[in-house]
Amino acid sequence: MSQPRDTNSRPAANTDRGSIDRLQVSFLTSAPSLRQCPTPDGAEVAFAGRSNAGKSSVLNRLTGSRQTAKVSKTPGRTQLLNFFTVASGGRLVDLPGYGYAKAARSAQKDWQRSVNEYLSERDALAAVVLVTDIRHPNQAFDVDLIDWAVASDIPLLVLLNKTDKLKRNAQFQALRAIERITREMPSVDVLLFSAHNGLGGDAAVGWVRGHLGGLGE
Ligand code: GDP
Repeated sequence: MSQPRDTNSRPAANTDRGSIDRLQVSFLTSAPSLRQCPTPDGAEVAFAGRSNAGKSSVLNRLTGSRQTAKVSKTPGRTQLLNFFTVASGGRLVDLPGYGYAKAARSAQKDWQRSVNEYLSERDALAAVVLVTDIRHPNQAFDVDLIDWAVASDIPLLVLLNKTDKLKRNAQFQALRAIERITREMPSVDVLLFSAHNGLGGDAAVGWVRGHLGGLGE
């Protein structure tokens, strides 16, 4: 699917006026593996991304609270799946960031196992938001996740985060480059985003809400 027109056809102006829709969440629990995940209760939208792409900042932006991803960044929780209850129903799941440079190889393996299991076996999983850095397109992890989502028929939203770091032309160039790949993938949406200035915030919240309410419909 293509870019939602409302947000990204506008100039990448600073839209941080506190007026965007927010997902109201509260921290539920952390789990080191699929087996220890909480009993499902409604649809789950999972957030994935390479370390440093800005996943925590995106979560904070979409929930309107700096506290949200702080939980996931506390020592001991960075390699866990962190669950948040959404006030209007369903859950957000913050998956551990991929490729943390300093993590030991064994920790990377645990990461792979817990995330792979969650993604492939969690029945409550309704959709995935992939946070990428717009300046680093087509990273192996991102391409793998897109391919997996398409093969698994799981709706995926790719956020091209940190747009504020690029001029408008370069933003749209990056958008077109990824859309060339995803054009034939109806279950994949792509959005220009900035956790810093709020670009794409309304569209992303709308997308997440749509999928939180989408299970069993
Ligand atoms: P995570 O490791 O994926 O959770 O990434 P963080 O949310 O911790 O962000 C990593 C770094 O990127 C931090 O220094 C953030 O301030 C910065 N960052 C995140 N999102 C944006 C953005 O939209 N624009 C800019 N300029 N910096 C960002």
